[in-house]
Amino acid sequence: MKCLRRLAGPIMLSICSFAVILTTSKTALSQTTSANRAGAHKWAVVVHGGAGVIERSSMTREAEAKYRAGITEAINAAAAVLDKGGSSLDAVQAAIELLEDNPMFNAGRGAVFAADGTNQLDAAIMDGKTMQAGAVADVRRTRHPISLARAVMEQSPHVMLVGTGADDFAAHVHLEQVPPSFFFTEHRWQQLVDELKKQGMPVPPRPEGVPPAPATAVAMYESPDAHKYGTVGVVALDRNGNVAAGTSTGGTTAKRWNRVGDSPIIGAGTYASNQSCAVSGTGVGEYFIRLTVARTICALVQYKGMPLQAAVDEVVQKQLVAVHGDGGVIALTPDGQMAWSFNTPGMFRARRTEGATTQTGIYRDEP
Ligand code: ASP
Repeated sequence: MKCLRRLAGPIMLSICSFAVILTTSKTALSQTTSANRAGAHKWAVVVHGGAGVIERSSMTREAEAKYRAGITEAINAAAAVLDKGGSSLDAVQAAIELLEDNPMFNAGRGAVFAADGTNQLDAAIMDGKTMQAGAVADVRRTRHPISLARAVMEQSPHVMLVGTGADDFAAHVHLEQVPPSFFFTEHRWQQLVDELKKQGMPVPPRPEGVPPAPATAVAMYESPDAHKYGTVGVVALDRNGNVAAGTSTGGTTAKRWNRVGDSPIIGAGTYASNQSCAVSGTGVGEYFIRLTVARTICALVQYKGMPLQAAVDEVVQKQLVAVHGDGGVIALTPDGQMAWSFNTPGMFRARRTEGATTQTGIYRDEP
């Protein structure tokens, strides 16, 4: 870069040095970028399986082991993708598909029931590199709503599809279709019946194609008020420095009128940008929507320069608490900061970075 030669002494010097600084930092930036391209980042992944009143006293050993196994299996699936040099987007999808198939979690098979006795599934995925996003709500026939959200992102010109249109699109792009009874689990049905009775509302007939009611009540994995917000979510960082986030849920038990929560709302329950961070939330969706929880966390990182843990705590422990919004989040930055925060007694969670072992947690007193 040429200096402004006609300027006198010191002024010329300072303009020249400014130009040198600019040139140097530009080189440094491009070096970092090409290093990222070469895979200089250590991959990382964080998983949640829902937050709520999850306490040791109300959890059997068997249930606890199943939950830990479920989130560990999910994190291993994501790790396997990332370790082979796969993308954060693929890692998020692989982990969530497993959680959707696991009846312990409120997503896919194991989703909670709406008041009319149907399972209405919501999901979203976002790519931090391109900031493209896909979301679906009120899906009833597609086995993996997270894959459908990704198909919306990659194979349609839209961001969000709902209801029968979303399922029709899933069939159109050849995603596995299942009868609604596929999502039925006895313990979730019992949870619906208990909730409707508590609210004095009519109990719908058992859905078509499901086994007859058992003679004795099934063992509940949790106390009736326990695990209210069992959504699943994953955030991942790949070796190329790209983050992604995904969330999948059945929503809330006994929801009515085709209610949609925060999980499929980009910026509320799900968000990812390489400029800031990737976030997935779980909790009472109505509060997460009003506070645009996921985007607010990323905005604090991006515009206020907050460390990730401070940003998630600010939103979950202060802003959400101030409006009595129960729940939690997991988050991850492109430079590898991992964080979680929840204002409920527990949250099913796990995290892992390249070269380290998996850390899982359920209760508040775990790290
Ligand atoms: N956030 C979800 C919703 O409101 C529920 C959950 O996290 O379990 O739909």
